[in-house]
Amino acid sequence: MKDGARSSLPQYLHTSFSAADTFSDDRGQAFAVVAARAAFGLAPTARFFTGATDLWLGSTDAPDLADWGKTAGELCVEWYPKIIKLLDSDGFKPYRAVKINIGKHGGIAATGGDTININADYVRNHKDDLGMVAHELTHVVQAYHTRGNPGWLVEGIADYIRLSHYEPKARRPRIDPDRAKYTDAYKTTAIFLEWSEKKYDKELVKQLNAAMRKGDYKEELFKQYTGKTVDELWKEFADSLRSNKRPVKSS
Ligand SMILES: [Zn+2]
Repeated sequence: MKDGARSSLPQYLHTSFSAADTFSDDRGQAFAVVAARAAFGLAPTARFFTGATDLWLGSTDAPDLADWGKTAGELCVEWYPKIIKLLDSDGFKPYRAVKINIGKHGGIAATGGDTININADYVRNHKDDLGMVAHELTHVVQAYHTRGNPGWLVEGIADYIRLSHYEPKARRPRIDPDRAKYTDAYKTTAIFLEWSEKKYDKELVKQLNAAMRKGDYKEELFKQYTGKTVDELWKEFADSLRSNKRPVKSS
């Protein structure tokens, strides 16, 4: 999904392995983080090897962000298998490669297929925003190939992975129950999904994702999984926000 405009893809570079950078994840897969290296006048590129999956980090016009890029790549090495597990579905075969480009792209970032394009200027001004990488990486895992999936839910699930799993302790936006809607996408939808899971079905997001991957998504699935329509869920969620409001101190 686009979280900004897309631009042309840069070239990738192969680099050699460094045994010192090898580690493994909780599935016992061996990973090797290949040291970044400049070549042919291009900025450093690293390759993250995960056995079944290659993670490529490319950066053709942001050499100043090589360290940030390495951190983003390591995040992907750690979180790609975790998100695959969180959004697993029958017969799902994740992309074998994840590619990250940091350069002159519009908006914040955009992901298409296995490729994440990140706007270098955005990173320069928001170096702490690694949650954005978790969001984009979720789009790679979603791997939806049909057009019928609602954009608010696609973006809501990406931010749900980010907020509920990657950075559960991060400060969250306040949702105005009188103005917000579940179709607002991003964090509003993410927090609504998390609440719905906790209250009614802890597999809700995994199941919605599975339907979207198959091209079978329909709104009635909320009722099927939780016993409530999405509108009923939202009304309850909004009411819970109202009752959680701290009493206003009168002066
Ligand atoms: Zn997105």
